[in-house]
Amino acid sequence: MSRLPMNAAPKRTAAAVSNSDRARAVKDLITIGELADLLDYTPEPASPVGQICECPSCGLSNGARISESGRTFKCRSCHAEGDLIDFYRAAKRVPFTRALTDLEALQSSAPGGPQSGDLFNQGDTNGHE
Ligand SMILES: [Zn+2]
Repeated sequence: MSRLPMNAAPKRTAAAVSNSDRARAVKDLITIGELADLLDYTPEPASPVGQICECPSCGLSNGARISESGRTFKCRSCHAEGDLIDFYRAAKRVPFTRALTDLEALQSSAPGGPQSGDLFNQGDTNGHE
């Protein structure tokens, strides 16, 4: 008898986690308001809900409105809009995958210290056998 492996999906070596999964994860852990604060975009409470901050795209002061949920933003001037990752990309002018990597690094660093420039700490394993 021969068996045909019906469920044998081809395995790829890397990229076990898709970019969309990574994007979902980072958006669960930080809001746009928190990110705007980290990046010094000075988010402030908006009326009646949400927040407003400097637009990451055109730089207009109080141009970008952050939704009540903190998940989306939209600029009233240049009409840049999107989610957390779009906000970061607009602010830093980096490609999507780079934004993911940076945002993941942001989360893993402990909150509470306004340290910029720590995005690339790789967490050395100083293991010696
Ligand atoms: Zn704008």
